Amino acid sequence: MAALTAVVHLCKHGDHIICCDDSYGGTQRLLRTIAGPIYNISSSYVDFNNPGTLEKEIQKNPNTTLIMFETPSNPTLKIIDIQNVVTVAKKYNILTSCDNTFSSLNGSQPLSFGVDVVVHAITKYINGHSDVLGGVVLTANPELHGKLRHIQNSIGAVLSPFDSYLALRGVKTLSIRMEKCEKNAMAIATYLENHKKVSKVLYPGLKSHPQHELACKQMKSFGGMISFFVDGDLSDCKSLLSNLKVFALAESLGAVESLIESPALMTHQSVPVERLKEVGVEPNLVRVSVGIEDVEDLINDFDQAFSFVGEKN
Ligand SMILES: *Cc1c(COP(=O)(O)O)cnc(C)c1O
Repeated sequence: MAALTAVVHLCKHGDHIICCDDSYGGTQRLLRTIAGPIYNISSSYVDFNNPGTLEKEIQKNPNTTLIMFETPSNPTLKIIDIQNVVTVAKKYNILTSCDNTFSSLNGSQPLSFGVDVVVHAITKYINGHSDVLGGVVLTANPELHGKLRHIQNSIGAVLSPFDSYLALRGVKTLSIRMEKCEKNAMAIATYLENHKKVSKVLYPGLKSHPQHELACKQMKSFGGMISFFVDGDLSDCKSLLSNLKVFALAESLGAVESLIESPALMTHQSVPVERLKEVGVEPNLVRVSVGIEDVEDLINDFDQAFSFVGEKN
């Protein structure tokens, strides 16, 4: 959030930000409850994959100066066409910021598509050990770099030396951690897709993902996040989650251990139900952050926990 806060400070009083409609909850909270009321920076939220909506949302007064988006999205793993966003933004001379946390540095590199600033929660994959909170802002533009340094220095929301040390330790193993967790994720996504108690799996690496081709075009690998719908209701989800032994029931993501959660009850519980429905977050949706454990342990764990699903007491 410190990194995203620095990016929002690239705007000035009276500016307007366009943000993708299923962005991280904390990003929307920052824009709606801080940037709006305190800095008079307004924001609107649109579906970037709906042709034309992004361009239609661009305003002259207040002046749109920043487009914020993330891909893949959380928790429905929608892919936004980075090239398309950059083309529209450049036409109107608007800055672009891509939150690349979900795909990690390994999965995709939005700077290579011409995005102005890329943000990562290092809390997730970059640190990878669930023991640091922090963020980074990346840019290839020296002028923006200078402005961001000035903002960080002035605001003071920067990483402590010890957290920096921990994150640097973590990043050394990023590529082998990603290799292993992505291999595990592909195996688990395939397993879930073939499971009779799962109605649908969302994973960009699966051919069944509605934007698999776009994912192949702009991602080098597909990350370790999987979402799926249990064939049942919220109580079936609870049965599954409460009987897993290897997966920890927890929010956060991107670390060496596998985590599982219910967006409706946990990470996205503060989002109004109608909004959740609009972006496809149903009560039977489950989100998994795949770790680097032995994949057989993970699949066996699902096997035993699924046996409790549908068993009405
Ligand atoms: C977790 C997360 C953040 C915020 O990270 P913090 O470490 O909680 O500040 C921002 N964006 C995305 C996509 C995230 O998953």
